Amino acid sequence: MEWESVIGLEIHIQLATKTKLFSSSATAYGAKPNEQANEVDIAIPGTLPVLNTKAVELAVKLGLGLNSSISKDSFFERKNYFYPDLPKGYQTTQLANPIIGPGIVTIALANGEEKPIRIHHAHLEEDAGKSTHSQGVSSIDLNRAGIPLIELVTEPDLADAEEAVAFATKIHSLVKTLGVCDGKMEQGSMRFDVNVSIRPKGSNTLGTRTETKNLNSFKFMKMAINQEISRQIEVLEAGGSIKQETRLFNGVTGESRALRSKEEEGDYRYFPCPDLLPIYLTDEYIADIRKQLPELPEHKKARFIKDYNLANHEAELLTIDAETALYFEEVVRLSGNAKLAANWILGTLAQNLNANELTIGQSKVTATAVADIILRIEDNTISSKIAKTIFASIWDNPNKTVDQIIEQLDLKQLTDSSEIASIVTKVITDNPQQVENYRKAAAEKQAKMLGFFVGQCMKISKGKANPATLNQMIKQQLES
Ligand code: ADP
Ligand code: MG
Repeated sequence: MEWESVIGLEIHIQLATKTKLFSSSATAYGAKPNEQANEVDIAIPGTLPVLNTKAVELAVKLGLGLNSSISKDSFFERKNYFYPDLPKGYQTTQLANPIIGPGIVTIALANGEEKPIRIHHAHLEEDAGKSTHSQGVSSIDLNRAGIPLIELVTEPDLADAEEAVAFATKIHSLVKTLGVCDGKMEQGSMRFDVNVSIRPKGSNTLGTRTETKNLNSFKFMKMAINQEISRQIEVLEAGGSIKQETRLFNGVTGESRALRSKEEEGDYRYFPCPDLLPIYLTDEYIADIRKQLPELPEHKKARFIKDYNLANHEAELLTIDAETALYFEEVVRLSGNAKLAANWILGTLAQNLNANELTIGQSKVTATAVADIILRIEDNTISSKIAKTIFASIWDNPNKTVDQIIEQLDLKQLTDSSEIASIVTKVITDNPQQVENYRKAAAEKQAKMLGFFVGQCMKISKGKANPATLNQMIKQQLES
């Protein structure tokens, strides 16, 4: 039996406000436990919530950036459940009428095609606190309680872990570009719940899903999805059935376990919050926010294709996050060569960043250095091959400039024709058999055989001979 997987994501996005959704407590990361929890956050009886209008503004901004509809009369509801990290006994959230309605986000697939992913809705809600259990003591930190979140919910349109990560990356890029969230996943500013089910390949009905909660990196998301798909296949193939349940994934051990069976909506006894007025938005208010929108990743991509003559997939990768786009445009500004800038960033630079698990903002090689490498290739000081050596050397010595490395390692390209000519002469005299073969061979074969001589000459010149001059001289001497 062949299986296919179906995935839907719920993404929690922490809005970049200074204070909480319903109180004046600070939201800054890293405070001591409970330093940022006031009487509203800890639910002292008699306190009342006051809506933070900045959170509403950021939510609308995100909705516009997502190309979704904005609800002009959304309202808050109480989701009732008892948990120690939720002092009110309910979470203030939105159910019937969320502030952001349906929309579509397009992702680029590995094969270069584009795929639309439907957004079901995105709603405003408050975060809960955090419980920790260690050595028989349970502690509660309410600094997170009341922090404004947007929960974005997709339709089950994603087919595998790669698509899920592509979608999440796109949302991450969007929220950072818009400035609605700082995007710091390691601080919990963006968390993912993955809903996974499997079904026989080609089937139209959905299988029973599980939900793995609170993944805080793309890496964990990918691991958790792939592992859950394998687990479900194993269970079904052994004749068992999938239970709809909530699961937890442990990034350290790489294992997941069932946490609890899934609650039904009725369990939460939702009802409109009597302490808060509905959020009525005027057309002018929404239009004003629309005017403040920065260039969105989609638009940036279109501009890169048009202005820099890039291929669709290059533009997609270069605009996938704001930092990469910024780095690219800096290299182009300094070198004037968009094609080489794209090649270097998506090739050598990306390989080095991946191998060291760094983001482009943490690159050891700056945009200036990449631009300098491109300029030295263009003015024939170095060959493209040597340029890779220089890149590697700067990666290890980020304080050195490109010109210092060229000087220090004596990597200047050999362009002096008489010097190159003498290398060619030496290789030709040292290899009489190859020369004879070459001269006897048919023209189509000769092109291939030339490689041997080029290789030998490059070896002697330590890769520094100018390839164009070298090729031309080898031919000349072989054919004379
Ligand atoms: P709840 O709010 O109870 O978690 P929803 O119906 O709102 O449930 O769905 C939550 C998420 O689960 C959505 O992202 C949705 O796309 C996804 N989902 C629903 N059914 C499936 C399924 N059978 N397989 C995979 N994902 C699913
Ligand atoms: Mg859910």
